[in-house]
Amino acid sequence: GAERTKNVLILMSDTGGGHRASAEAIRDAFRMEFGDEYQVFVKDVWKEYTGWPLNDMERSYKFMVKHVQLWNVAFHSTSPRWIHSVYLAAIAAYYAKEVEAGLMEYKPDIIISVHPLMQHIPLWVLKWQGLQKKVVFVTVITDLNTCHPTWFHPGVSRCYCPSQEVAKRALVDGLEESQVRVYGLPIRPSFARAVHLKDKLREELEMDPDLPAVLLMGGGEGMGPVKKTAMALGKSLFDKNAGKPIGQLVIICGRNKNLASTLQSEEWKIPVKVRGFETQMEKWMGACDCIITKAGPGTIAEALIRGLPIILNDYIPGQEKGNVPYVVDNGAGIFTRSSKETAKTVAEWFSTKTDELQRMSENALKLAQPEAVFDIVKDLHELALQRGPLANIPYMFTSSFTGLI
Ligand code: UDP
Repeated sequence: GAERTKNVLILMSDTGGGHRASAEAIRDAFRMEFGDEYQVFVKDVWKEYTGWPLNDMERSYKFMVKHVQLWNVAFHSTSPRWIHSVYLAAIAAYYAKEVEAGLMEYKPDIIISVHPLMQHIPLWVLKWQGLQKKVVFVTVITDLNTCHPTWFHPGVSRCYCPSQEVAKRALVDGLEESQVRVYGLPIRPSFARAVHLKDKLREELEMDPDLPAVLLMGGGEGMGPVKKTAMALGKSLFDKNAGKPIGQLVIICGRNKNLASTLQSEEWKIPVKVRGFETQMEKWMGACDCIITKAGPGTIAEALIRGLPIILNDYIPGQEKGNVPYVVDNGAGIFTRSSKETAKTVAEWFSTKTDELQRMSENALKLAQPEAVFDIVKDLHELALQRGPLANIPYMFTSSFTGLI
């Protein structure tokens, strides 16, 4: 019989580029695999429906990562479960009605959280509505290794972990094996499925056709020692004796407009492209031979798919720290905070140590999980089918919670 379209609500927050990128990856994969069977909404529910501090998460996050020590304290001091439970309960009591209105507007059959703070309140709301058995609620974790315990909630149908390390933590934190799946970090299907030839991409992006290329970036916000590293590369990739460059540089500054304009006004001896926020990262990565970045999970997973050796030059304390050994111990790259050393390494990779570059590229490809996003949506489809006829989810519009506050 004719099935009605099912609604999928993805809860995310625009803190950095990673959560949005994962959310959009899942939305695109649903469309590719199931077409009109699912209607997917990607929502920053906190921003749209709640008051401070939740709708200000983006700003607080930017402030915190600029003051890393503060972030460090916040990350670790909210780790013990009782602290974050009390904190979240207080927020929940205050904002429950708005969150509830946000959830009810989309009448979701499936709710996907791609954010460490978006399990507790939505799950409470579902419980109050008597919907926890009818709506599929899952978490997609977007940290590769060390992740904050607020990610793990025993009330989820599934917790999708990007690596075995994260899965181990999930089990230690009380999730059942039947709830945990390890497919990899969901990356936009454009990375997984499209085959791009490097020569064609370089032509399209107006890059030098022959010189090896290094991509320099710092996540969605253009964070980390991007400028210092760019200046050092400008020197190390220029062969003074021969009077010509041995490589070219692409710098993607993301939303950091100051950084982009500063770098644009520099005089370079090597071919350099300075770009702002790019929507086709798979092309820029496909056109380059290695990458320098802070340890953002999205960028790392994408670089692995493209087989790019990775120089990690920074990480956000707490959630990104574990991404460093994930790359380094698997032989897909190195970690150094020194921009001098970074510049020297790239110059060697492009001249005397091309074999090392090649080996690391092969290791990167071994770690890559381009199919992860498709595995996740297929599993979600199975879960939705198991819930049986979904036609009449009894969403109630009178808040059952109102009486409590
Ligand atoms: N990104 C992008 N365009 C840009 C800069 C970054 O699409 O100009 C994407 C990048 O490809 C990755 C995400 O933003 O998917 C960054 O996520 P990551 O986890 O690396 O770091 P975050 O920005 O979340 O700290």
